Amino acid sequence: MKKVYFLTGSQFLYGEETLKQVEEDSVEIVDFLNQKTNSAKIEFAGVMKTSDEITSTIKKVNFDDECVGIIVWCHTFSPAKMWINGLKILNKPMLHLHTQANEKLPYDEIDMDFMNLNQSAHGDREFAHILTRLNIPRYTVVGFYKKQRVIDKINKWISVAIALDYSKSVKICRFGDNMREVAVTDGDKVAANIQFGWQTDYYAVGDIVKEISKVTDEETDKLYNEIISKYELNTDNIEAVKEQVKYEIALRRFLDRGNYNAVTTNFQDLYGLKQLFGMSIQRLMEAGYGFGAEGDWKIAALTTILKKMAEGKKGGTAFMEDYTYDYTDGEELVLGAHMLEVCPTVAASTPKIEVHPLGIGDREDPARLVFDGITGDAVAVCMTDMGDRFRIICADIELVKQPKPMPKLPVARVMWKIKPDFEKGVKAWLEAGGAHHTVVSTALDREDIELFARLTGAEFVSIG
Ligand code: MN
Repeated sequence: MKKVYFLTGSQFLYGEETLKQVEEDSVEIVDFLNQKTNSAKIEFAGVMKTSDEITSTIKKVNFDDECVGIIVWCHTFSPAKMWINGLKILNKPMLHLHTQANEKLPYDEIDMDFMNLNQSAHGDREFAHILTRLNIPRYTVVGFYKKQRVIDKINKWISVAIALDYSKSVKICRFGDNMREVAVTDGDKVAANIQFGWQTDYYAVGDIVKEISKVTDEETDKLYNEIISKYELNTDNIEAVKEQVKYEIALRRFLDRGNYNAVTTNFQDLYGLKQLFGMSIQRLMEAGYGFGAEGDWKIAALTTILKKMAEGKKGGTAFMEDYTYDYTDGEELVLGAHMLEVCPTVAASTPKIEVHPLGIGDREDPARLVFDGITGDAVAVCMTDMGDRFRIICADIELVKQPKPMPKLPVARVMWKIKPDFEKGVKAWLEAGGAHHTVVSTALDREDIELFARLTGAEFVSIG
């Protein structure tokens, strides 16, 4: 399990007894929060009283692979000049917890000793001042630490911190290049490596064809049996389904051998493949791998990162494409899907395995999972390269039940309403230069995405 260090700011001014109390209160807060968080362990790093102590603690934080970030709280006043050297080298996300050991003021008992001990109102202002002066991005949480609202915010930040840590290890495997002539799916891979930590590697489609040729019939049959027990088999074309099963085995092998957690394909580059990747990619996404169609490596990375951020939360997180609209006045809806590759985490019921012809790609009929989508509040997120910066756009949407069945549509799909209304939302997306490829998630909200953007230094556009 990942961990978060908890640093308490103080100083020597108030004497040994006060410092002892500061430590006891900190341990109590950490113990309490550990009962309320389950995605990371919070570890008390000590009461910070000097510049040397802070700097050496931050060094420990920076090089601890298990640590995804720090929580800082100034119980007493903690002169901020002593934080400068440490903060300048901090390379992990920060949550500034503006809380108190006590909820209510003890009106009958309060004296100057109490005032000197419990003065985060004063100490955290000094600390926040130097954070702002040093331009350090952080998540500021205000409130008594036992309040559910505060606990929820801490948990939210931990999920984002885990996703940021994961982002640094994201490796994207690209089979083929971007779709010819398409602008929005392309971008500066070196800049993304510097800013988000993503390694983006190219392979020839022949490399995966070779891997597929090594998959045995026994392996294929074993996984095929697992798959048909999990979904509903709705085709007689077993051979086509087994072809996708082989693709899945080969893809997993290839990706895992190279520590890749995301993959892109391109229907213009299918040399030696019988089918497009359909069910195989859908099942990889269900398992947490990122995917981008048409060589879209940015959305492949974003998909796996947002899936990581959503771990343990209710709802689905899926690679998506805005496909077509229902333009009925006042009831406008977006129909989101892709040619084949829609993630089963947004399925409303058991997906059906089906085989249908596909005009694009000029290959044999590919097997795919077909389903209707879940409902609920969601976000649609994209990332674009603006030339000198990356822009993350997040739209508030509501996934809704499709108004009527679509018996002839041979692909998984979801439908949604745009907020605040169709015209405003779509207009803003177009004017912001948003992509047609997105990640749609009912597990995450705008604040998660905004926090990710802030902590990675990406430009953020919010529509809703
Ligand atoms: Mn597409």
